[in-house]
Amino acid sequence: MDINISEARSQVNEKGFLDIDVDPRLDLFQEIEKLKKEKNAILLAHYYQEPDIQDVADYIGDSLGLAQQAAKTDADIIVFAGVHFMAETAKILNPNKKVLLPDLKAGCSLADSAPAELFRRFKEKYPDHLVVSYINCTAEIKALSDIICTSGNAEKIIESIPEDQPIIFAPDKNLGGYLNKKTGRNMVLWNGACMVHEIFSLEKIMRLKMRHPKAKLIAHPECEEPILRISDFIGSTTQLLKYVVKDDAQEYIVATETGILHQMQQDAPGKTLIPAPPNNSCACNDCPHMKLNTLEKLYLCMEHETPEILMDEKLRLASLKPIERMLDISRAAGLIG
Ligand code: SF4
Repeated sequence: MDINISEARSQVNEKGFLDIDVDPRLDLFQEIEKLKKEKNAILLAHYYQEPDIQDVADYIGDSLGLAQQAAKTDADIIVFAGVHFMAETAKILNPNKKVLLPDLKAGCSLADSAPAELFRRFKEKYPDHLVVSYINCTAEIKALSDIICTSGNAEKIIESIPEDQPIIFAPDKNLGGYLNKKTGRNMVLWNGACMVHEIFSLEKIMRLKMRHPKAKLIAHPECEEPILRISDFIGSTTQLLKYVVKDDAQEYIVATETGILHQMQQDAPGKTLIPAPPNNSCACNDCPHMKLNTLEKLYLCMEHETPEILMDEKLRLASLKPIERMLDISRAAGLIG
C-alpha cells in the first residue's frame, strides 16, 4: 500500500521503519552514495549485514571496530546498518550527531536476554563484584556496568582487572565461560545467549569435518562450549576474518553468522568457506535481527533522516563511562589506534 511520508513517519515507532514504496527504477547504490555526500553522512555496517549493504558502506566491522569508528567520525550523520544496541552505542558516543538505524526493530536476542530490572537485582547479590558487560546489551545494562568489552578485546579487558577482584560477566554465558577458561578467572556469569551462535549442531559439524578432513573449524566465542572445544581457532568476527586471510589452509568451516562470508570471500578469494550447519531444518544461520535491514530501508532512512536513535541524557552519560573505560584499555593494549 502506498502511503505518504507524514503518515509513514507517524508509524515509525510501531513498524520500526518508513513503510513507503521505493521507485524500482532508482539505482539505490548511486542514491545512497549521493545522500552520503549531500548530508555529510557516514555509513557504518556490521559484517552480518546483507552483502549489498556491506558493499555500499564506508566502514564494515565488528562491534569494537564500529564503536571506534563511531567515536572518531566527524560526519554530521551516522547511519548505522546493524542492530539497535550498536546504533545506541554510536549515539552514546556522539550525542550531538544524528544517528539513524534503518529498522528500529533490528534488536538482538542476546541483549534481550538481560532485562535491566532483573539484572539490577542479580547485581545486588554481589555487592563487591565489578561488572564487565559484553557490548551486546542495552544502554540500561551498560549503565549498570563498570567496563564494556567486545569479543575482540574481552580477554585484555579481563586481564587488566586485578586478579583478586571478583567479577560479574554479562550477558553472554558462552563468551563468559570461554573467558573464564582463557583467563583462569571464576567470573559469575549472567545466563544469556545469542540465538544464532547457540544454534550450531555439533553432530552436523562433526559429519561435515569428516567429509572435509582438511577444513579447519573456526568459531566465534559466543558459540557453545562443545563447538569451541573442537574448533581450530576461536575469535571475534574480525579475528576470524584475519585468520582466514593469513592462515595457509584452503578450506574452513565457519561457525558464526553467515554475513561474514561475503567479506571473507573478498579478502581470501581462493579459499573455500563452508557455513557451519545449524541444529534445525533451515540451511542457514542468519541473524534475523541483522537481516531486518535492507537496502530499501537504508535508502529511505537516509533520505528522510528517520528512524533516529534518541536517548535520555542521564542514561547516555551513565552508559558512556564503561564504554570509555573499554576504549581506554583497548588503546593502552594497542588493540585500537
Ligand atoms: S548474531 Fe546474535 S548477538 Fe549478534 S545481533 Fe544477532 S542475536 Fe544479537
